[in-house]
Amino acid sequence: MRILVFGSNGLVGSNVKNVLLETSYECLFSSRKDTDLFDLNSTLETIKKFQPNIIINCAARVGGINANDKNRTIFLLENLKINMNIFESIMGLDPIKVINLGSSCIYPLDALNPISESSIMSGKLEPTNSAYAMAKLTAIELGNSIKKEFGHNVINLMPTNLYGKYDNFSKEDSHVIPGLIYRMHDAKINSQKKFSVWGTGTPLREFLNAMDFAKSILFIIENNINDDLLNIGSNEEVSIKELASIIKKTINYEGEIIFDEEMPDGNPRKLLDSTKIFDYGWKPEIKLEQGLKEAYEWFKSN
Ligand code: GDP
Repeated sequence: MRILVFGSNGLVGSNVKNVLLETSYECLFSSRKDTDLFDLNSTLETIKKFQPNIIINCAARVGGINANDKNRTIFLLENLKINMNIFESIMGLDPIKVINLGSSCIYPLDALNPISESSIMSGKLEPTNSAYAMAKLTAIELGNSIKKEFGHNVINLMPTNLYGKYDNFSKEDSHVIPGLIYRMHDAKINSQKKFSVWGTGTPLREFLNAMDFAKSILFIIENNINDDLLNIGSNEEVSIKELASIIKKTINYEGEIIFDEEMPDGNPRKLLDSTKIFDYGWKPEIKLEQGLKEAYEWFKSN
């Protein structure tokens, strides 16, 4: 079996790579060095050359609440282009299994929690990341169309908020875990007395370690699970306030945590209903405290 991984240098792609390296599958770990996913010909050339049975698309323009809201056009355009080029490339090829990755933000703001797969397109999106979500929803629709008309087997996975080693650590533009780790580490080094967490601290988030998510992808391949749409969560939910205090302990920061209510909260709660994948027999292994320790160690040494 030949597996082509697009976006193999990012948070998900790097963890997928580590998981697949432990198997005997023939893999091509593609990155922007060998393939320009914004270009149809470059995408098609890589796929035709390697002739994969499976494509795992981990390539995406991603970011936290601030980056999503500030760069709406780029997030929408780049994610559309990546998915359009991969799907358009395979239209004329023999059947391929495509594992296409989305995000829990594709679900409506008022979806009932825990959010089941059937909530898709049942209401309006959360405004801070609606542009990104719209690109991902379009990719799901495109994948479902290609599946029906061209016989490819497209499986859309919707992971909950991911974090871990190989994350993109940026003070302003990353997701909450790498953002807090980076900024709080700086606060510790500079003996800052107060540390400001964005928003009210009340939003609830479910976090899944990217290594666990990578293992769920292998589980789906090896157990030949073929659902169109599948949530992948941890069922471990914390408030941003609780998360900040766990990170404070992990980093050993001694200052006071305050909340900057001028910054947006985004979605008040997005806990996925992952009953389907749990019933298939997959379970996450890395607890949040442990995963945060590993992420912090990785951050310091990288
Ligand atoms: P979201 O899950 O799409 O909202 O994405 P994020 O991971 O960026 O944000 C999650 C929550 O953490 C939001 O309520 C943010 O306001 C809050 N938050 C608190 N401090 C930070 C920070 O330093 N960076 C980010 N990205 N979010 C933060």
